[in-house]
Amino acid sequence: RKWVYRFGDGAADGTADMRELLGGKGANLAEMCNLGLPVPPGFTITTDVCNFYDRNGRTYPDGLDREVTGALEAVGEQVGARFGDPAHPLLVSVRSGAPASMPGMMDTVLNLGLNDETVEGLASKAGDRRFAFDSYRRFIQMYSDVVLGVDHGLFEEALETYKERNGFTLDTELGAEDWQTVIESYKAIVAEEQDQPFPQDVHEQLWGAIGAVFGSWQNPRAVTYRTLHDIPDHWGTAVNVQAMVFGNMGDTSATGVAFTRNPSTGEKELYGEFLVNAQGEDVVAGIRTPQSITEAARIDSKSEMPSLEAVMPGPFKELTAIYERLEAHYRDMQDLEFTIQEGKLWMLQTRSGKRTTRAALKIAVDMVDEGLISKEVALGRIKPSSLDQLLHPTLDPEADREVLATGLPASPGAASGEIVFDSDEAEHLRSLGRKVLLVRVETSPEDIHGMHAAEGILTTRGGMTSHAAVVARGMGKPCVSGAGGVRVDYAKEELVAAGTTLRKGDIVTIDGSTGQVMRGAVPTIKPELSGDFAKLMGWADEVRRLKVRANAETPTDARTAREFGAEGIGLCRTEHMFFDEDRIVSVREMILADTEAGRREALQKILPMQRADFVELFEIMGGLPVTIRLLDPPLHEFLPHSDEEIAQVAKGLGADPEVLRARVGELKEFNPMLGHRGVRLAITYPEIAEMQARAIFEAAIEAAERTGSPVTPEVMVPLVATRAELDMTKERIVQVAERVQAETGKALTYLIGTMIELPRACLRAGDIAETAEFFSFGTNDLTQTTFGISRDDSARFLSDYTAKGILETDPFVSIDREGVGELVQIAAERGRAQRADIKLGICGEHGGDPASIRFCEEIGLDYVSCSPFRVPIARLAAAQAVA
Ligand code: PEP
Ligand code: MG
Repeated sequence: RKWVYRFGDGAADGTADMRELLGGKGANLAEMCNLGLPVPPGFTITTDVCNFYDRNGRTYPDGLDREVTGALEAVGEQVGARFGDPAHPLLVSVRSGAPASMPGMMDTVLNLGLNDETVEGLASKAGDRRFAFDSYRRFIQMYSDVVLGVDHGLFEEALETYKERNGFTLDTELGAEDWQTVIESYKAIVAEEQDQPFPQDVHEQLWGAIGAVFGSWQNPRAVTYRTLHDIPDHWGTAVNVQAMVFGNMGDTSATGVAFTRNPSTGEKELYGEFLVNAQGEDVVAGIRTPQSITEAARIDSKSEMPSLEAVMPGPFKELTAIYERLEAHYRDMQDLEFTIQEGKLWMLQTRSGKRTTRAALKIAVDMVDEGLISKEVALGRIKPSSLDQLLHPTLDPEADREVLATGLPASPGAASGEIVFDSDEAEHLRSLGRKVLLVRVETSPEDIHGMHAAEGILTTRGGMTSHAAVVARGMGKPCVSGAGGVRVDYAKEELVAAGTTLRKGDIVTIDGSTGQVMRGAVPTIKPELSGDFAKLMGWADEVRRLKVRANAETPTDARTAREFGAEGIGLCRTEHMFFDEDRIVSVREMILADTEAGRREALQKILPMQRADFVELFEIMGGLPVTIRLLDPPLHEFLPHSDEEIAQVAKGLGADPEVLRARVGELKEFNPMLGHRGVRLAITYPEIAEMQARAIFEAAIEAAERTGSPVTPEVMVPLVATRAELDMTKERIVQVAERVQAETGKALTYLIGTMIELPRACLRAGDIAETAEFFSFGTNDLTQTTFGISRDDSARFLSDYTAKGILETDPFVSIDREGVGELVQIAAERGRAQRADIKLGICGEHGGDPASIRFCEEIGLDYVSCSPFRVPIARLAAAQAVA
């Protein structure tokens, strides 16, 4: 087995595709050597050694020692030096490098190989004593910190004290003798802290550093990072040992980092920073202000400090050629590290560069245009969920924020406004032109108008599929839900968070993408849907098989959905329409009526309003399919609850408050989610379903006449468990359709189908498909009923399940393939076996989740339906799912 891979002098043992064995850094160093780029020679100790080290009590495999020694000699030969040689010392850097980029591990030790003797050799070789002793003290400090674990603050203190005593302010004022004195105090610190002197043996230094890198793979920060990012433990890290080049050998030396394209805008330009006469850590440490690489960037940033292009034109030109070469080779934007030693350019690292979503889009699209990558590769480069960043206003990353609490990132985007605790008040203030943020313990359908009026919604209870979260996503409004750290007192009209009390009218900002709740108004940046976005979306549409529809009921939502490319409405939740001011009175009248005749009378008043809603929806959707669901929630949701509200409503209705109170009491259920809702309402009160069916069919005829394109409504019956329920309801709907056709003399085409959102319905799907012409999987309720976990209460404890590894992800966010997924698959198979052309879709929150969309593609559903703002995400995810 080979443990050590060498690189240098235009050749290497490894290649770029060996990142599992050599780590990302090692594989790319090898690749750059193979390309003939100027890379200081070195070698990589493989990730296999890391695994061996972990499993064998921190020991190394046989033969490693010999391989390292051989590789060190080869490196020395290439640079004309030897490790530990007092006259011509070889100095090396030692760096970690895992297959995936991993902050939290030991990073770098520079100048390794320096001791009291070799420092003299470096001094005479460089012809600069100050430089040599400065390098030595940096090495002692760095090595002691990262390898020996001595607090680096002690060294900084010692240096500060020395500077103060001797009247220095800047490090650059210290001469060789000064550094020699400082080095003695550094050594004393190490001896004191470690009970032994700083290692003078260069081999001890090297193995110390190698052990520290391998050991850091298991340090708690690295372990946590791996857990959070699904990086397997067995990957291990590699160690890269490489001949030092010096960016701090005077004014013809420099060090810097560069991106081959601008990482925040995606613009094609060499973008980066450098420092003259400095080592790598100086750029990162931020003590000196780095300079721009190109002259154009310098002018842009109005900097007085000259650019690399101006001060070192030769190395700049070479860097420009290299970056073009590397980008063409890797076919992706690269993040480079380089050092210039006495006018000679050296490349220390290349890797694919991190970028904003905006930059990612531009780079992907530009690279297709430049012929570097295919459209399919471009599509794969964009993380669907990252598109959210583009569709909603986001917080200005530069702005200060005072975070008061963190809840769930329920609906993306940022919003600020004065806090109000009541929906009526939100609506009122909005009508006065004020910006408000609705704060509730939780929301209910009664808050819809308040949510509409608000810039954003904050709740202290409820999960990702709570009412607030679902409705806010539908509206495209920012929402933070389940912020347990916020306490709301409705009576006092105030909230308490992080020890701060805020009153009604105080300004708060929420970030629905992170769940943060902040004090005051944090500035935001507006979204801009550029040409790149449209172009990439077009490619996604060419590739995907799944159709993408939207969950929408209001005209605004429907228009947004169309703008974002929805191909129909997959779920129109009609109950949301029942709350509008003009009809809630009639809805309540209907619920309060004792007789069918009384109910029909009230329904008669609702009919024209409901019909008008549907006409508008059909018109906006211009002939695309629209699925309308019959009334789903329990009736008590529409009734007032507090004494005050009851009195008010009774007055409006001309009813006796006591009668009203009694009716509210009658309708109260112990477990409304499993109670009198869904198709069960249609069984008890078929007249409600009939009114809705009539509104739908009449609207279809009217909209078709107005627009000239035929409308085929899809009538959907919710929460069906048995075929008999659906049969009975379908019969009523069909009768209405026939009556409407007879009355108008117009022919109707329509489908009648059902939501599949109960386990029993999944199992009996074959039976149900005899009646249903389509299925729409309501995976919110299906997850709730399969797990037996309340979707409105899960936030309180599901995080424990994910934290403890019982569940990998929240099943209300990403479909539980093994349980809920199997039920969906069974239902799809049985449904198709019964009715070959049955239309299958999904309309739960999972319809907008990329991982769940992949599952829907795998089992061959026809479409997904999600909130309007997720439509672009779903289009891209559906395209990626095909690949
Ligand atoms: C569902 O249950 O998945 C669904 C879409 O319906 P709702 O969220 O309205 O219950
Ligand atoms: Mg449901």
